[in-house]
Amino acid sequence: MKPLVKALAVGFIAAGVGVVAGRMLAPQPKPTPAEPLGKLQYGNELFAKGKVIPPPVDEMTRYKLETEGQKPFAVVVACADSRVPPELIFNQGLGQLFVVRVAGNIVNEENLASIEYAVEHLKTPLIVVLGHSHCGAVKAAVSGKHLDGYLSHLIAHIEPVVRHLHSTHPHLKGDALLERATQENVRHALQTIYQRSKTVRKYYATGKLEFAGGVFHLREGKVEWLKLPEMLGGAKSDSHEAQSDKETPKSHSGDTHH
Ligand SMILES: [Zn+2]
Repeated sequence: MKPLVKALAVGFIAAGVGVVAGRMLAPQPKPTPAEPLGKLQYGNELFAKGKVIPPPVDEMTRYKLETEGQKPFAVVVACADSRVPPELIFNQGLGQLFVVRVAGNIVNEENLASIEYAVEHLKTPLIVVLGHSHCGAVKAAVSGKHLDGYLSHLIAHIEPVVRHLHSTHPHLKGDALLERATQENVRHALQTIYQRSKTVRKYYATGKLEFAGGVFHLREGKVEWLKLPEMLGGAKSDSHEAQSDKETPKSHSGDTHH
């Protein structure tokens, strides 16, 4: 901003948005929060408004990442869906997110290994599972139709979530069922990570690791953050949801440890 324009703008900026000589001034950008989840929430706010700040991808950035190594601040387990790229949704650049993507954002042993690598070797302090609206994998599990080939293996990870919902919420049908199954599938994935990974439990117990779960809404571009079971720090998480922890499905394997 030119000095004169800046001086004129001072009085207006306090209100967030100013008008100088008939010209709109951009709102003052909020400082990027330091804590990992705050960074993702802030980045998603920019994305949803269509105001992303392109992250640096220049040679110096790449050189630094090569020589100093990566230090991602979040692991994001997301669906492989082409409309859900975590780096774009959260406005993050090279070296910032450790992304594990597979259709339906399910958790299998290879994903667990990737997550453990980030937690143990890169000291990544946050694990996020990100579901999304109109997810084909969740739709397939809800439909109950038989699928050929490896797809049936994938859907088998989501089917217990749907079965559990059918028994606890038999009234849910159509879009309401799909929406709830998408949320529960995120919680289920987080519980699976916690219950199956000793490494994850170890870092969580020492306060070096946090969990978050969200559902990305395709049209709005916004991530809806979910209330998590207490086991995963749910009491601390901010949420618009008021669902009972008892309603979340229990993971199929692994010992629980508090
Ligand atoms: Zn999907």
